[in-house]
Amino acid sequence: MARIPALQGNGFSQETMLDMMKPKGKFYGVRGSFVIGDTKIGGHTTCHTLQFGRKLIIFDFGSGMIDIGNELMKRYLMPGKTIKDVDVFLNQYVAQGSDIKNLGQALLESGHLNQEEELDLTFMSSHVHGDHLFGAQAFKPIFSPKTKIHMIGGLHCGMNLFEVMQQFNFRPPVFPVPWEYLGSKRDLRVIEPNEHFEIENDLQPIKVWVLPMNHPNGSYGYRFEWCGHVIAVTLDHEHGKDEFDKNIVRLWEGADVVVTEVQYTKKMYEDKRQGYGHITAEAAAQHAIEAKPKRIITTHHDPDADYDTVQEIARTIERHSHIQTTFAVQGMVF
Ligand SMILES: [Zn+2]
Ligand SMILES: [Zn+2]
Repeated sequence: MARIPALQGNGFSQETMLDMMKPKGKFYGVRGSFVIGDTKIGGHTTCHTLQFGRKLIIFDFGSGMIDIGNELMKRYLMPGKTIKDVDVFLNQYVAQGSDIKNLGQALLESGHLNQEEELDLTFMSSHVHGDHLFGAQAFKPIFSPKTKIHMIGGLHCGMNLFEVMQQFNFRPPVFPVPWEYLGSKRDLRVIEPNEHFEIENDLQPIKVWVLPMNHPNGSYGYRFEWCGHVIAVTLDHEHGKDEFDKNIVRLWEGADVVVTEVQYTKKMYEDKRQGYGHITAEAAAQHAIEAKPKRIITTHHDPDADYDTVQEIARTIERHSHIQTTFAVQGMVF
């Protein structure tokens, strides 16, 4: 059983303690490549949370970030104020040509936000393709001086996460509010391939291991260990290159939960999709047979994949590997 470090004797029941020590998560965007209009599985691009005790990690910044941003923003609001009010305030401030430099301070003084709540968030990034990036503009807490964001990500084409956000997300004429005038306080950790590091947390630090994966412009997979639990997150990657295939197996090895992209059936892949940077159900099953994780959740579903195809991908992995496999649906918790 997992070690129970700091909570012993704090009056919590054994059951409550074990539950607090169990990492959790929620899917806010489960599509890869492009946003689509699908109400059955969900149409937002990749974004999910990982919750380790009180530490909230937001993993990738696809369009699903809109919803997690609005959920978090509700904690800030004065009684009677709504997300819509904040939206109107921000848009009118910009539209009226007010001083963009003071947007954060103006939001603070607008009477929309309560005095108590502060958010401390960690953003982690697999890579910076558009489907993992452009939701950040709609993440309302990023405009508030009451939000602290610790960003973690690697280099892609020599650019770090701050530089990418600055150049492609928050910069006129693409977006009216420049990166440097966002109200939130942000810091950055640039990860190296094959790096081990820790994220401070209640009970125990979260141990993180990062390995590079095979994907155009580079992509990183993560393995998290906390309070005896292991979660692996391997978004965009393609099979077929031995050194990278081995990395996937290392990250998945014995994990309690693997959250991974599996975008294609074998047939889809063989129909001119080699080299796009995504894996098939059959290849993922092969990794699973070697790594023996306890559970797999597929996400980053292809925009062309309907419910039956997404289901078939999960079933194929389970049939080949005999490891419990489900597919993520927008709003699903784990
Ligand atoms: Zn993607
Ligand atoms: Zn990608």
